Amino acid sequence: MKNFNPKSRVADEFISHEEIIDTLSFADKHKNDLPMLRQILAKAEAEQGLTHREASVLLACEVPEINQKIFALARRIKLNYYGNRMVLFAPLYLSNYCVNSCVYCPYHIKNKHIARRKMTQDEIRQEVIALQDMGHKRLAIELGEDPVNNPLEYVLESLKTIYSIHHKNGSIRRVNVNIAATTVENYRRLKDAGIGTYILFQETYNRQSYEVLHPRGPKHDYAWHTEAMDRAMDGGIDDVGIGVLFGLSTYRYEFAGLLMHAEHLEAVHGVGPHTISVPRLRPADDIDTSDFKDCINDDIFAKIVACIRIAVPYTGMIISTRESQKTRERVLQIGVSQLSGGSKTSVGGYANPEESNNSEQFDVIDNRSLDEVVNWLIKLGYIPSFCTACYRAGRTGDRFMELCKKKAIHNFCHPNALLNLEEYLTDYASADTKRIGQDVIDRELETLSPKIRAKTKEWLERIRKNNERDFRF
Ligand code: SAM
Repeated sequence: MKNFNPKSRVADEFISHEEIIDTLSFADKHKNDLPMLRQILAKAEAEQGLTHREASVLLACEVPEINQKIFALARRIKLNYYGNRMVLFAPLYLSNYCVNSCVYCPYHIKNKHIARRKMTQDEIRQEVIALQDMGHKRLAIELGEDPVNNPLEYVLESLKTIYSIHHKNGSIRRVNVNIAATTVENYRRLKDAGIGTYILFQETYNRQSYEVLHPRGPKHDYAWHTEAMDRAMDGGIDDVGIGVLFGLSTYRYEFAGLLMHAEHLEAVHGVGPHTISVPRLRPADDIDTSDFKDCINDDIFAKIVACIRIAVPYTGMIISTRESQKTRERVLQIGVSQLSGGSKTSVGGYANPEESNNSEQFDVIDNRSLDEVVNWLIKLGYIPSFCTACYRAGRTGDRFMELCKKKAIHNFCHPNALLNLEEYLTDYASADTKRIGQDVIDRELETLSPKIRAKTKEWLERIRKNNERDFRF
């Protein structure tokens, strides 16, 4: 327990290596300890979360009967907190110039065969129009770290461009931002520019691995990177998204670190992370995953998702197109609440989808179009949601968490999801998606309270008949 202090602002104290090592040996010792496993599960049944230590014991558990219960509980928590809604978004790569040397990323500075691209505002406009024409309302912008090519001013200007475009009935209503760790002042400027979530993956919580994997460049500084979310919150950003890149270090270490990070944010800022992402390492230009000995298989991946769901029920979980349709289907049931669809990881890949311009960040596995993803979600019994209402109504940070912890977010999310789905069906869907989507809306309307149902029905009519948009509770 040496050095461990969740309330400290020092990276090595809130992500204490000694505490993680201790947690892992505790988990190993108790992985078959039935009374303890049952006790932890009983606590988890209250759906109020677990500590990193308790959750690590569940992750290590080898008892089949308990593992079945872990998955069943994850499924139940998922339904109770998020219902059958599934939020959709797309990444938008603005520039792949990068001065870092991340060993696992094709954007590393020494990679001379990847094409370096940075979009002009006009090219961004073309990309956003293409994304709006697919039906997207929510984006995550992605950039390499390069103070000369990608200064904050470029990010701010691009945000303005993205929010300003209204093509036909389209609009981008929430832009999440995934850029390198920066200063409080810069976070404040991002907040003022109206960003949704600030996303930054830790990559690995193991300092020693971190320093080897980031040998040079500004990202080499482990403390600067690990303390970034504190600076973001000091700068007024109250929705932050954390994650690790599974495959870089041992998964049980990463899992404990991830939860300790969440505990730290809650202890210091009174609000935990808005989302947790669970990317797994993918092959890419100049990157061979067989060089990484800690890559994890699908079963371990599913167990991680289920244990995160149980440990932090009120934190959204994100899956990208790094995963196959089959894996995505599996983890949607047990924890994931947001997914990307129709994604391109190249700079400029949406406006010219036929052209590979050799700027991709990694190989996407799920290559289906957004309409195919929406259709698939509906057939699986989910409501694809393009909703951005909470953020736009100021329900962020602790206000969102309070509602989410009380499971009251459902009262807003459910009708809003239906309204946004109706916009998608009216403006963008294929005939089959439209047909099955309308059935879902009719069915789900019945689950609303009479007052909310009446208002939702009125707005649905106005979307269909009057071409009006953007209704929300
Ligand atoms: N430059 C920003 C930073 O430093 O955080 C981040 C943006 S990068 C475009 C987004 C994420 O892609 C990284 O944080 C990393 O986890 C992930 N990534 C990098 N290389 C990858 C690979 N080969 N496979 C899967 N994900 C990868």
